[in-house]
Amino acid sequence: MKTAIITGASRGIGKATAILLAKNDYNVVINYNHSEEQAKALVDELTTQGLSAVCYKADVSDETQAEALVKFTLDNFGNVDLLVNNAGVSASGLLIDTSTRQINETIAVNLTATVLMTQKVARGMLSNQSGNIINISSIWGEIGGSCEAVYSATKGGIIAFSKAMAKELGYNGIRVNCIAPGIIDTDMNAHLSACDVQNIIDDIPCQRIGHAEDIAKAVLWLASDEADYINGQVLSINGGWNT
Ligand code: NAP
Repeated sequence: MKTAIITGASRGIGKATAILLAKNDYNVVINYNHSEEQAKALVDELTTQGLSAVCYKADVSDETQAEALVKFTLDNFGNVDLLVNNAGVSASGLLIDTSTRQINETIAVNLTATVLMTQKVARGMLSNQSGNIINISSIWGEIGGSCEAVYSATKGGIIAFSKAMAKELGYNGIRVNCIAPGIIDTDMNAHLSACDVQNIIDDIPCQRIGHAEDIAKAVLWLASDEADYINGQVLSINGGWNT
C-alpha cells in the first residue's frame, strides 16, 4: 500500500481527498490544526470501513510541527509516497485594509507550509527515488483576484515553487504538480450569499460550482501511473470559469 499525507484534511477539499485516497488503497495521514473533532470523526468513518487512516495535529506553517507530522507518518507507515499540500486560509479585502499579521499568516499557511512540507518529505523520496507531490493552488494564483491580493500572491508562489521543484526533483523519479481550483463549495466560501454564488455560476460555462470531490479525483489521477509523464504542470479545475 502507498502512503499519503494530506495537509488540512479535517474539512473541505482535503477531507474529500483523504476519503478518495483511502478508498483507493492508500494509508492516509489526515493532518488538522484546529478541527480535532472532525479529523477524529473522519478517521473513525474510514477505519470502520476497513480503510487505513490516522490523524495528526500540526500547524504545518511551523517547521517543528511540520517535521513532526512527517516523522509520525514514517514511524507509522515507513514511507511517504504522496504529499498533498492542501492546508490553506483565505484572506479577502482591500490590500490597504489588510493587517501585517494577516499578510504574514496567509503567507505562512499557504506558501511557507508548502515549502516546508515539501522539504521534509523530499529527503525520504530522494532515497526512494520515487514520490509525488501535489500542491493546491487556486485560480487566483493564475490570474490574480481583486481583494485577494495576498492570497493570490501565495497561490502564484505555489505555482512557481511547484515548477521549480519539478525540475529539481524530476530526475529522481519524483513528480511535482499543482491543481488550481476555481470556486469549490467548502467552508472557505461559506461567507458568500446564495445570490453571490448564483452570479458566479452564471459566469461558469459548466453551470455549477465545483465540489471538493472534483479536486479529489484530480489528485488521485495525478498521483497515479496514468499521469506518470505529467510533471511541473498546473491542472486548472474551474468549469471553464475565467479561462
Ligand atoms: P476549508 O474548507 O476552509 O479547509 C481548510 C483546511 O485547511 C482545514 O482542514 C484546516 O484545518 C486546514 N488548515 C488551515 N490552516 C492550517 C494550518 N496552519 N495547519 C494545518 N492545517 C490547516 O478550505 P478548502 O476550500 O477545503 O481549501 C483547501 C485548499 O484549496 C486551500 O489551500 C485553498 O486555498 C484551496 N482552494 C480552495 C478553493 C475554494 O473555492 N474552496 C478554491 C481554490 C483553492 P483545521 O480546521 O483543522 O484548522
